[in-house]
Amino acid sequence: VMCGSAVTLVDEEGLQLANGIKVAARLKVWAAGIRAPVFLASLGNLKTNRINQLEVSETLQTTQDPNIFAFGDCAACPNGHSGTNVPPRAQAAHQQAHFLAQAITRRIEGRPLPSFTYRDYGSLVSLSREGAVGTLMGNLMGSFKVEGWLARMFYISLYRMHQRSLFGTRRVVARMLADVLGRSTEPRLKLH
Ligand SMILES: Cc1cc2nc3c(=O)[nH]c(=O)nc-3n(C[C@H](O)[C@H](O)[C@H](O)COP(=O)(O)OP(=O)(O)OC[C@H]3O[C@@H](n4cnc5c(N)ncnc54)[C@H](O)[C@@H]3O)c2cc1C
Repeated sequence: VMCGSAVTLVDEEGLQLANGIKVAARLKVWAAGIRAPVFLASLGNLKTNRINQLEVSETLQTTQDPNIFAFGDCAACPNGHSGTNVPPRAQAAHQQAHFLAQAITRRIEGRPLPSFTYRDYGSLVSLSREGAVGTLMGNLMGSFKVEGWLARMFYISLYRMHQRSLFGTRRVVARMLADVLGRSTEPRLKLH
C-alpha cells in the first residue's frame, strides 16, 4: 500500500506516480472514483468542488444561483448532517429526479422548496452467473447482507424493474424471452 501517491500516467508497462516511482504492472485496476465533466467548472460563476461537481444546497439549487438546479453525478449535495455528500449512485440520481419533479412544481406555484433527503436502499454487486453479493436496507428489517442465489435474484429483479420503467412491461417480457433464447450464444461474463 502506497499512501499519498497520486498516479499521473498509466501505460502498458505500469503506473507512473507523481513522486517519480514507476510501478511495473501488466494488470491494472483503476478504482479512483468519478469525476464530473470539466466544463461544469467553467459554467459562469457556479461553484464546483475538486471533482467538478456543482455545489448545491439540500434543495438542489446551486449555491451561487438559486435559479439553477443540479442533480445526479454532476451535483455535490450535502447528505443530511453526515458531513459527506450524497453518493454518486443511480439510486441517488433517481431519488433526486423524483424529488425535483415535485419541487419544481412547488416553485412554479410560489410555494417554499422542500429539502432532499437521500435514502440508501443498499447495494448489490453482480458476480456474473455465479451469484451476487450486497447489502439491502429497508424500513422494516433494517440492514442485512445477502449473497449467492438470493442476491442474484434481487439483482435480476432490480435490473428488470429498471428496464420496465424505460421500456414498459411488454418489451421487457420480450427481452426476457430473447435473453433466454440467446443465452447459449452469449459470453458468460457481463462486459458493461
Ligand atoms: C461502470 C459503472 C458502474 C456503476 N454501477 C452502479 C451500480 O451498480 N449502482 C449504482 O447505484 N450506481 C452505479 N454507477 C453510478 C451510476 O451509473 C450513476 O451514479 C448514475 O448513472 C448517475 O446518473 P446521472 O443521471 O446523474 O448521470 P448519467 O447517467 O451519467 O447521465 C448523464 C447523461 O448526460 C449526458 N451528457 C454528458 N455530457 C453532456 C453534454 N455536454 N451534453 C449533453 N449531454 C451530456 C451523458 O451522455 C449521459 O447520458 C455506476 C457507474 C459506472 C460508471
